[in-house]
Amino acid sequence: MTPGSFQQDMSEIQNITVLGSTGSIGESTLDVVARHPDLYRVFALTGRTRIERLAEQCRVFSPRYAVVADAEAASQLRSCLNGKCGELEILVGEQGLIDVSEAGDVDTVMAAIVGAAGMRPTLAAARAGKRVLLANKEALVMSGALFMSAVRDHGATLLPIDSEHNAVFQALPPSYDRNPGAHGVTRILLTASGGPFRDRAPETLHAVTPEEACAHPNWSMGRKISVDSATMMNKGLEVIEAHWLFGVSADQIEVVVHKQSVIHSMVAYTDGSVLAQLGNPDMRTPIAHALAYPARIESGVAPLDMFKIAHLDFEAPDFRRFPCLKLAFDALRAGRGLPAVLNAANEVAVDAFLTGRIPYLTIPTLIESVMNKMHDATDTTLEQIEQVDAEARVLSQALIREREAA
Ligand code: NAD
Ligand code: MG
Repeated sequence: MTPGSFQQDMSEIQNITVLGSTGSIGESTLDVVARHPDLYRVFALTGRTRIERLAEQCRVFSPRYAVVADAEAASQLRSCLNGKCGELEILVGEQGLIDVSEAGDVDTVMAAIVGAAGMRPTLAAARAGKRVLLANKEALVMSGALFMSAVRDHGATLLPIDSEHNAVFQALPPSYDRNPGAHGVTRILLTASGGPFRDRAPETLHAVTPEEACAHPNWSMGRKISVDSATMMNKGLEVIEAHWLFGVSADQIEVVVHKQSVIHSMVAYTDGSVLAQLGNPDMRTPIAHALAYPARIESGVAPLDMFKIAHLDFEAPDFRRFPCLKLAFDALRAGRGLPAVLNAANEVAVDAFLTGRIPYLTIPTLIESVMNKMHDATDTTLEQIEQVDAEARVLSQALIREREAA
């Protein structure tokens, strides 16, 4: 991360690629971009599903490129646009995503694909020295060491979109260089809402449905991250994300359950100061912050009304209720390929839960079994990481099939 060295020239229009534009973060990004046509121009939009929505976005933002999964999706997009594509070129597959991430005309890449699928395009943006707005935490969890060196070696600017990490970024000094000791930073306090099951009796959790798990009390998000919020694996992935972004160890990261989701995270300093960033829970704030950094632009988010909030509550997380959070700390402490194993097993488990193949409480037990079986996974090269990812997925699927057969 190079927060101090970046000076953005707000008089020049920024060309933006939005990876995952049809998702929750993608839509919020376009909402902010649409408010500032004098500052931002959309270069490329990408989506795997919701092709009609992608077509609508193409009509509104007239990008140079759209990227979809395959030739069938491309012809669907063409027909949604009634042949009226103008200058639009449609690319397909992972190579298409990489091409629009590293293209010479692109200044900024919003990395908002969900899951491991976003890793290569996000890495391509870093290697091309772009300004990378990182929402896709799974990419960083999988390839943290590799990704951070790509950012450093290629002079990319990395700006966190995850609300907690964006809050931490705002509470750190502009010259921060991933060396907490040198800046008097003692702890990073990541806040967590506790999700929809914070107060639910543990003995009723076995019967949780996907709809209940996706009904987040404070945030509106995609289905995968919504389930991750319910299990608190989301916070676990964010702990690993914080380790890579800010150079802090597992012992320097504390999770604080804060049900109002108004304080988005905090930084504790050696003199006893704790700096926090507050705001309404709306992703357009961190998105606008990262788009304009170091300037500030209007985001469409309502001003915070402290009197309406009145109370801010804090409590320690219960690791028995949220075993996924503990597994993530375990993976970070174990290091090597374990975070990639955790991430892949979690993606498979969440998908199996959402499609009715496993019950909610099997999510952590499945991940733990896969982590135990793959305790010596390594992560030195990108190929190794992809192999670990693939192996963990195969193993997770096999365990699910075994369970189904029993
Ligand atoms: P989402 O499911 O709403 O959207 C995901 C986007 O990625 C969609 O455009 C989808 O078409 C695309 N996509 C999915 N699989 C793909 C694949 N295999 N190849 C190419 N494209 C694919 O998800 P979201 O909630 O917008 O989250 C996006 C990322 O941002 C996630 O990594 C999530 O953890 C992170 N994030 C989200 C929020 C939030 O409030 N939604 C907050 C913080 C971080
Ligand atoms: Mg978050």
